[in-house]
Amino acid sequence: MAIQLLPQEVASQIAAGEVVERPASVVKELLENALDAGASFIVVKVEGAGKRLVEVADDGAGIPPDEIELAAARHATSKLRSAEDLSHITTLGFRGEALASITSVSRTTITSRPKNAANAARLRIEGGHSAAVSAVGAPVGTVVRVEDLFYNVPARLKFLKSDGTEKRQIDSLVTRYALAYPRVRIHLFQDEKPALQTSGNDNQREILAALYGADVARQMLEVWSQEDALSLRGFTSPTSLTRSNRREITLFVNGRPVQDVALTQAVLQAYHTLLMVGRYPLTILFLSLPPEEVDVNVHPTKAEVRFRDSRQIFSFVTRGLKKALMAALPAPGFDHLGAGIQQARWGGIDSTVPMPAWMGPPRDERTPVDGERPFLPPARPEEMPTETVQPTSLRQSQVSGLGAPILRLVGQIAAAYLVAEGPDGLYLVDQHAAHERVLYEKMIAQHLDAAGNPEKIPSQALLQPALVELPASGTRLIADQLPLLQHLGFQVEPFGPGAYLVRALPALLQGMDPASALRVLVEDFEEDETPLQAELEARIIARVCKRAAVKAGQTLSVEEQRALLHDLESCQSPRTCPHGRPTMIHLSVDLLERQFGRRGAR
Ligand code: ADP
Ligand code: MG
Repeated sequence: MAIQLLPQEVASQIAAGEVVERPASVVKELLENALDAGASFIVVKVEGAGKRLVEVADDGAGIPPDEIELAAARHATSKLRSAEDLSHITTLGFRGEALASITSVSRTTITSRPKNAANAARLRIEGGHSAAVSAVGAPVGTVVRVEDLFYNVPARLKFLKSDGTEKRQIDSLVTRYALAYPRVRIHLFQDEKPALQTSGNDNQREILAALYGADVARQMLEVWSQEDALSLRGFTSPTSLTRSNRREITLFVNGRPVQDVALTQAVLQAYHTLLMVGRYPLTILFLSLPPEEVDVNVHPTKAEVRFRDSRQIFSFVTRGLKKALMAALPAPGFDHLGAGIQQARWGGIDSTVPMPAWMGPPRDERTPVDGERPFLPPARPEEMPTETVQPTSLRQSQVSGLGAPILRLVGQIAAAYLVAEGPDGLYLVDQHAAHERVLYEKMIAQHLDAAGNPEKIPSQALLQPALVELPASGTRLIADQLPLLQHLGFQVEPFGPGAYLVRALPALLQGMDPASALRVLVEDFEEDETPLQAELEARIIARVCKRAAVKAGQTLSVEEQRALLHDLESCQSPRTCPHGRPTMIHLSVDLLERQFGRRGAR
């Protein structure tokens, strides 16, 4: 076939495919236009999951009658004049593509009246062909009515998901925008039934309830953080509220929803070691920064952005979230690990990791105020076995300055758990998780000097260098990370295709099989998306420690058991392993007394 220019109509339909993927994309584009027009009230009507009708009506600035035809032309926009302007975009739209795309794959009617015009102008466009503009009576603002989406591109129609899915997409999209623009009143109707009605009075909690349900919304923590020109607002879940995937992590940058792997990673970083493996927070964040700091023109649907200084942005987001999580912690001095938690770095909040319900709420672990136990039913004085309860002051002094309670070893059971007595009852310690935590903190400590700067981790040369063969992907990954590995105390060098020579391991891992140490690293890289360098280091260390830690099923000598408890006591976050699982379960004296019926039921 000879080369030919595509007919205009076909070219538009192809271009439209980039912008208008599905009904929700139409809703998104029209909603953004209404927001750009400065609307204070927007009504979205959807019928037949958006395939029959999407109509968006706003009370914004309107389109002058003599520009209405142009509005629907490709690359026609009122939001951008020169390439220069691209570097400081403050509107959601700027490419002048949406209306052109939508009108080429539907039957669209645009009715618009600017404030100072006597009448509205109306334009009907079918599959890209427009009729004449007519004058009609209508209120100030714009109504764009999109009917029979994809009627002329049946291939598209076939690829749409079920009506239920498309409707949910639209619900969730509009609700998220409503949350991002709480001062705009937004109503959504699906098949004439109200699906969302916000008041426009800036009440985000209200909209949050529409997004997640009242119960979840109530639990969400508020995020609010400002540093120079950066600001972060939004909501994030406490560590007790999680999902099994990261789909509930929503990010807006300068009022536009974006999907950004690294930003998502910044969110996860804030929760690092606080959540069980495979659990993710619910988060909706609104990040604002000067428009020239972010390039929004990198993706067809603008779902991705590029930051000028991504490191700064990511650490700002992580810090902002941590601050919100921190603020949700119990008041200082209320937890019997209080002293440790206050001094600890971020990891100190591990005590919020949920314990099984039968163990009672974390509150049970708090030091009773003035020796009373507000959470117990009033017990008769003669039933109080007071001699077994240590006075508050003694307990506090015992733990002051330490991250974990002082533990007296009782023994090992099932070659997996250590049994210990602590200041307030019985502790069961998972030897593997505990050892992981101990190794992890030692390695992290070696890795950062007193001022918190990265330092080389001491390494231990192997008596005989070990040859380790890896799959091709693994070899490439290791090759990319050689400097980091060096830094972590590994001495590794390429040794022909697919093989490495390991000359030294981090001193802490002495005795570990070099091949498995190296394989752990490769697995880690493969699973990762694009972690931040700092997080990568922490993750590698965590992974290596997991492999190096004693396993369940390993019988430990009494000395080893004692040493492990002792090391755990001096950890900053002794209550969870680096992956977020608990290292210890605490059965308080209270609980034992209640369980044995010495104190009456709770
Ligand atoms: P963009 O939003 O990128 O400029 P669009 O194709 O979405 O491109 O819209 C083209 C132009 O039509 C806009 O620049 C704007 O001037 C005008 N327009 C579209 N929708 C509206 C609206 N709801 N209110 C006022 N003007 C609108
Ligand atoms: Mg637009």
